[in-house]
Amino acid sequence: MTRITAALAWLALCGLGSAACQARPPRTPSSLLLVTIDTLRADRVGAYGSTAGLTPALDQLAASGWVFERAVSAVPLTLPSHATILSGLDPLHHGVRNNGTFVFPETRETLATRLKASGYSTGAFVSAVVLDRRYGLARGFDVYDDTITRASEGRSDLESERPCGAVVERAGAWIESQAGPFFAWVHLYEPHAPYAPPPDLAAAHPGRPYDAEVAAADRCVAELVAAARTSRPDHLVTAVTSDHGEGLGDHGESTHGLFVYQSTLDVPLVISGTGIPKGRRTRDLARGADLAPTLLATLGAPALTGIDGRDLTPGGGAGESYAETDYPAGFGWARLRSWRLGDLKFIEAPEAELYDLALDPKEERNLAGSRSSDVDRLRGVLRAALKSEVRPGERRVSGETEERLRSLGYVAGGATAGPGPNALDPKSALPLFRDFERAMEREASGDLKASSVILTSLVTRDPANLTFRRSLSSVLRRSSRAPEAVSVLREAEKVAPEDPAVLHDLALAVAGQGHLVQAIEFEDRAIALDPAFVDALNHLATLHALGGDFVKGREAVERALALDANNARVWSNRGNIARGQRQIEEAARSYERALALAPEQAEAWNGLGVLEVERGRFDEAALRFERVLEVDPGFDEARLNLAVVELQRGRPDRAMELATDTKRVARDPALRAKAAAFLRDLRAAAR
Ligand SMILES: [Zn+2]
Repeated sequence: MTRITAALAWLALCGLGSAACQARPPRTPSSLLLVTIDTLRADRVGAYGSTAGLTPALDQLAASGWVFERAVSAVPLTLPSHATILSGLDPLHHGVRNNGTFVFPETRETLATRLKASGYSTGAFVSAVVLDRRYGLARGFDVYDDTITRASEGRSDLESERPCGAVVERAGAWIESQAGPFFAWVHLYEPHAPYAPPPDLAAAHPGRPYDAEVAAADRCVAELVAAARTSRPDHLVTAVTSDHGEGLGDHGESTHGLFVYQSTLDVPLVISGTGIPKGRRTRDLARGADLAPTLLATLGAPALTGIDGRDLTPGGGAGESYAETDYPAGFGWARLRSWRLGDLKFIEAPEAELYDLALDPKEERNLAGSRSSDVDRLRGVLRAALKSEVRPGERRVSGETEERLRSLGYVAGGATAGPGPNALDPKSALPLFRDFERAMEREASGDLKASSVILTSLVTRDPANLTFRRSLSSVLRRSSRAPEAVSVLREAEKVAPEDPAVLHDLALAVAGQGHLVQAIEFEDRAIALDPAFVDALNHLATLHALGGDFVKGREAVERALALDANNARVWSNRGNIARGQRQIEEAARSYERALALAPEQAEAWNGLGVLEVERGRFDEAALRFERVLEVDPGFDEARLNLAVVELQRGRPDRAMELATDTKRVARDPALRAKAAAFLRDLRAAAR
């Protein structure tokens, strides 16, 4: 059936006289392995001049294949850049402008849809939640493996990515199981901040955690390439690239997203394998959008039509490139748009910039003041390109996703209001941004006090900045300073009265003060403004359940799951609500589903423990509660639950110890009171 479809696809395209028909399909189609190493700067790769020896696997591919010396990303953000790599469209034309807030349009073709239609098996294996299927890149893939353990609230957030070893294992197994031609896209996240390299590589590159992460990713590339070659020794094309680079201090930027300088746009691009001439090096500009058409031509597959990218196999290239970032808009700052023509690069910003990359590759001398005719010329080209911009519907990110985006270093979510006409130039906002990064680091390390001090000063310095206000309220809430959190958010509500995220934050804050009815009102307003707001729905479910209305709670939680079926926190919440409805089997199934998605979901382990208590199986229950405390020592409720169970198991001393601990350390005053009451009973019984 697939074969017939593939043949028909050829006929249809050739009938239209497409350029695809000029390239004859090879008798045995080659399989394609596309590896995108997130956040890999070109200058860290040996084939691009690095002498640090970080990338032996990539360098070997380069030596046996084709190196694009000047490969550039269109946007230093993961989802938009991958959308470009897979579709051959610039962000202007696929419309995915930021992480978390946009969905790739259903009407556009990609490498995956095209190869699927040509009879390939297609599999994607991604390492970060930014590329979750809900953002639209899964279409065309038979398998889209995006099961990534999501950190629960208040825990270390570093777990929202998965290590490349796990991804490579799954991708390798899938590749091995393929009998016919396959397309495997494997996304590795190692070089992305926060940097946590494996100990041996950290030791090999002391004080250079980013470099060590690059080496870690390369080690995984080696494994993947070996797996693919074993499976397809003769007919295999391998392409390795990155979605963007990393600032590492250039222009004051430590990570990526705020600017469009080459430190975050220059990426490696290497293609190697069947039909690729060995040792070819190309100096022409190779854009992210050029990759898909070039790979399709290499495989002899039908071309994508109506795209920005072009097939680079004949040599040459567009010679010019577009770049942008909307990331600053999340802070209310100006968006950046850029056009590069050969070595001349123009950046449209409140203070425009012009660089001659041949003479000034580090972009240190802004020529905009002295070369106004070049500025006018490039600005004209850029503005003409911007006229063709598509405007797809933006979907708001859920609060939970937003939290995870932040944990992945994307501190600002989507801009609700967007920057005004007098928006700050990101260059001028850099001191604010750096302080903000510092506040986030303090928060991540648990120093909430220091974080709140920095954020308070940021709110004073940039009062219209909702990201600053919301971050401050979140830190205050986590510091049990709910009334202050509420007043910060009330001010934010004045700035942006129709912002669902602010309303959701208000619901969280007033719920923290015990105002259930008011919290429900805020969530209802947030959901009315954004019906796809998963975290608001999930929280609303909790609020209804707390108020004893399990029917409404269940309704809200089912709506949340319909939007985000991979969300372990929502499954766990569904378990709690089903338990409230006395649907024990349904509850157990929900908790187990949560744990299948996230084996360290403390809430779900706790729920299973409670179910065991209700069944009178105290030894089983104790194991579950112990597991909770293992994965999350701050889960105070489980400690008190364990105390109750230990008493049932005839271990009053252990029960006393656990309840005393709970009374001492629990953050929730109601739980402390419960522990105190339990201790009183325990002592009375002992007398
Ligand atoms: Zn990325």
